[in-house]
Amino acid sequence: MPDQFHRPLDRDWQHRALCRGTDTDLFFSPDGERGNVRARRERAAKQICQDCPVLDNCRAHALTATESYGIWGGMSETERARHARRTRRPARPRECVVSPDPLTWRIRTPKA
Ligand code: SF4
Repeated sequence: MPDQFHRPLDRDWQHRALCRGTDTDLFFSPDGERGNVRARRERAAKQICQDCPVLDNCRAHALTATESYGIWGGMSETERARHARRTRRPARPRECVVSPDPLTWRIRTPKA
């Protein structure tokens, strides 16, 4: 079945996921979970991810789909958010195109 952009979905990797059939509570934090309890649960989930044959697929999916919650591809939501901030492209510099007529002044972004 295609996705909303009419691309075929590649979900085959999910069938090979090591976490398939395990308790999802290990990968998603319950409301209000904090501190050592949360750290312990996340470590246990990441331990499973370490040996997962589809870790790369899972991580790529989570980063592309900007999954907001849970452990995906061995990364927590905090780690994915940090990764996204670090790899975000800086805004391209803008240049001012000045013409003699102020009504046509405009700012444009140069082509890469
Ligand atoms: S990397 Fe982790 S969360 Fe992703 S499929 Fe494998 S075990 Fe599941």
